Amino acid sequence: MRTAIISAVVTLLVVALIILVLVFASARKGEKRSVKRSGDFLDITVRLPLPWLFSGAKPKPNKIIYINREGAMLRGGGDDATNNRATLAGKSIGDSISVPAWRGSYSRWAAVMKCLRKAFAPFDVEIVERRPVDSNYMMVLFGGHPKLLKNRVGKSHLRATGMAPHNGLPIHNAVVLVFTRFMKESARRTCETAAHEIGHAYGLDHGYHCRDFMTYLGWCGTKRFVNKEIPCGEKKKRKCYGGSGLQNSHQDLLKVLGSRTQ
Ligand SMILES: [Zn+2]
Repeated sequence: MRTAIISAVVTLLVVALIILVLVFASARKGEKRSVKRSGDFLDITVRLPLPWLFSGAKPKPNKIIYINREGAMLRGGGDDATNNRATLAGKSIGDSISVPAWRGSYSRWAAVMKCLRKAFAPFDVEIVERRPVDSNYMMVLFGGHPKLLKNRVGKSHLRATGMAPHNGLPIHNAVVLVFTRFMKESARRTCETAAHEIGHAYGLDHGYHCRDFMTYLGWCGTKRFVNKEIPCGEKKKRKCYGGSGLQNSHQDLLKVLGSRTQ
């Protein structure tokens, strides 16, 4: 009888040990998969025409970036952050999309703000958390899922973490979207996506360098606006938008915004 009990206990312990090993192995696999997925970046850029070529007025870069966590109803037909108008909402003023508020914790929010301010620290631009009284600012909306883009054809946009207007030059009073609910308000991914989309609104293309905020390549460490001439491209190299062969995201932002120490 006693031998039978000991044998049953030993069997149970062995089974429990096997289950633990299997659970640990699958968790490790999951970790690997998620790291791989984090490199599988996808966003949407909406190409805008260059009206200043016709009007002669050069684009005026915004020196204030307002990060909106309250959500907003955006109307289409052009960009004007001060009036909640966004090219991303549609072609006409009758088009609209509703972006819900940020749902992450305060500590996540603080971590994202710290990361973003560090990303833009070299440049003469201010990141604010309340809507400015000023009439010149870019607005970055934190919230929601790409499925709120209900008028888009196909399904590829449903994997996008962000969206920005782009024409290779700064877009005045641009509105940019960061789908933070889709990323479960991950501080790192939210910061990286926001920096990337803001970069587009200041004219930057995709850079073929895994450390650059503008990259589509797999994650290889903390990102920054890399101060190096790098090719443009997503999964492979290509010419940059506008025809030039290389892009230096750090220097290009300095040209647009100026240096913070000036
Ligand atoms: Zn992009």
